[in-house]
Amino acid sequence: MGEITTKDILKGYDKKHLTIATVCSHSSLQLFHGAKKEGFKTLGIAVGEAKKFYDAFPLGKPDEFFIVDNYKDINEHAAELQEKNAIVIPHGSFVEYLGAQNFLKLELPTFGNRNVLVWESDREKERTWLEGAGLTMPKEVKDPRQIDTPVIVKYHGAKGGKGFFIAKTYEEFLKRVDHDKPYTIQEFVMGTRYYLHYFYSPIQKNAYRLSKGSLQLLSMDRRDETTIDEVQRLGSIAELEEIGIHPTFVVTGNIPIVMRESLLSKVFQMGDAVVEKSLELFGGVIGSFCLETVVTEELEFKVFEISARIVAGTNPYIAGSPYSALIQTELSTGRRIAQEIKYAAQHKCLEEILT
Ligand code: AMP
Repeated sequence: MGEITTKDILKGYDKKHLTIATVCSHSSLQLFHGAKKEGFKTLGIAVGEAKKFYDAFPLGKPDEFFIVDNYKDINEHAAELQEKNAIVIPHGSFVEYLGAQNFLKLELPTFGNRNVLVWESDREKERTWLEGAGLTMPKEVKDPRQIDTPVIVKYHGAKGGKGFFIAKTYEEFLKRVDHDKPYTIQEFVMGTRYYLHYFYSPIQKNAYRLSKGSLQLLSMDRRDETTIDEVQRLGSIAELEEIGIHPTFVVTGNIPIVMRESLLSKVFQMGDAVVEKSLELFGGVIGSFCLETVVTEELEFKVFEISARIVAGTNPYIAGSPYSALIQTELSTGRRIAQEIKYAAQHKCLEEILT
């Protein structure tokens, strides 16, 4: 942030009348629902006009809509939002619509550590963080001529898996690749996918203890990706590729899932190591984060991505998940975030969870 710090802004806030604000998209119904349950006022930022479909979900509808002409203008409205004691909960679409630079400069208290964006969006830095924490990531193939096993080619900054493709040989790679866009080539890991939704509190000690604060596992999902997840309805991938139909990885939804209980200790060890490393590198990944994993037939986890805020995969669990039910009934990630803000406001330590 520029001259004004989050601490300065918070000084002017009425902590008994905080408003939870986010952009109306992604996981906003869940966030508003959770915030209302914890007694907060809610504000939904929308472009052009209030979205009509929110009327059909009264428990997820924000108390107030804040209309802007363009998401990129949100920064200019910071003072108005400060008057409403607004605390922003960023989600994937929030950061994408605003743009990383605007998001980093936004003069509003924001849930989580904004510095994490640098470590998450740069693939090299992400690898330093996750491998530094002892996690196994898919192997990277630096030179496409060395492709000797199935690989997935990922374009940098591509949202929702758009444009990604699989190649089994260098020739296949050459046929498909767009050299104008920077890309990374990764080993395609065979196994089953689990997207693990953690919550790290640096200020509460009532869960899986870490050197500072504690860790929870609130839920997990599997993404539904078109067309890869249903392409077999038409034929095998090899058959389809022969006639020029290639599978794509565009996320369209999320499917609830649970995991073999014996794998949970590994899930916590990974979450623990990721948080500890983040504390060492950049002050900690605060609040929700998600490890995107593949479990191999040797029951080993390979982690191909981290998302350092609420993910849309938590949406199947607005009324709670099989894991959060063991913490509290009807506990969604959205509600857990609201609880953290409420706890920090009561204990006068909001600066520890907001940046
Ligand atoms: P990402 O944008 O990295 O989350 O990748 C988009 C999708 O591609 C994931 O949800 C997975 O289905 C798939 N994927 C990504 N990386 C790998 C990998 N190394 N091995 C297998 N599948 C992957």
